[in-house]
Amino acid sequence: MARSETQLREDIVELGRRLWARGFVASNDGNISVRLDADRILTTPTSVSKGFMTPDMMVVTDLAGRKISGERNASSELKMHLAVYELRPDAKAVVHSHPPLATGFAVAGIALDKAVLAEVICTLGSIPIADYATPSTAELPAAVAKYIKAHDGLLLANHGALTVGSDLYNAYYKMETIEHFAQISLVARTLGGERVLSRDEVHRLQGLRSMYGITAPAPICTDAQETTGGGETCQVVQAPVTAGSRLVADTGLDGAGRARTSATGEAEIRLTYRQLAALIEDAVRTVGSGGSDG
Ligand SMILES: [Zn+2]
Repeated sequence: MARSETQLREDIVELGRRLWARGFVASNDGNISVRLDADRILTTPTSVSKGFMTPDMMVVTDLAGRKISGERNASSELKMHLAVYELRPDAKAVVHSHPPLATGFAVAGIALDKAVLAEVICTLGSIPIADYATPSTAELPAAVAKYIKAHDGLLLANHGALTVGSDLYNAYYKMETIEHFAQISLVARTLGGERVLSRDEVHRLQGLRSMYGITAPAPICTDAQETTGGGETCQVVQAPVTAGSRLVADTGLDGAGRARTSATGEAEIRLTYRQLAALIEDAVRTVGSGGSDG
């Protein structure tokens, strides 16, 4: 059953509190919106902490962002939400925040697009980075427009993250998933790097979407799609083609996620100068001691 406007106002208050409590926003950052009907949007007010909103603070606008009712004004970032609603008739709610780990990836220019977590592949597919755009200008909706048709979650370069969903909670949970994915990726990288899922396994996981009734906005890219318009019409997932094993050490993936191979067809191993020097030193020591130190 569709939720009433009163319930939606309370939902936004609750989700704002969660964004703030989790540290996904600081100060007055972030914004949330939901479709009220075919012509109206309910959204968070500007200049208020998302942790301390009340239902009466919300603003009702039309699809062009013109205020219909509310004592306060909508955020200037509402433009980005409106672009999403225009391009994604299926999107009923939008959440924007600055979760620190995911935003760290966005600042480093690293997309969350490796085939690492089965659940993420089944649901979001991959999380690309929308180009940097000045917040609150028309640049930002344009940057988001490029990827939003094929993705429910985006990183915004040097800014934050954006998620869309079939309702407010659905959009909010995707924000949690993105931050959780970023946290796990960071830990794995600290511990020496991710082991990634093979391409075959990724396609097997994609097959589970229909089984679990997950409605993704686009399929995972095939190899051919990746080279043409990948990311805009399909979801780029970095997963190597392998024979047999379903988990692969992420030592040498090219830009499209395929294992790099040398001219002889051997997988390439990359070492830093320091690692190479240590290996040589070790070998010299082993030879010097007669190789009998077990
Ligand atoms: Zn923002």
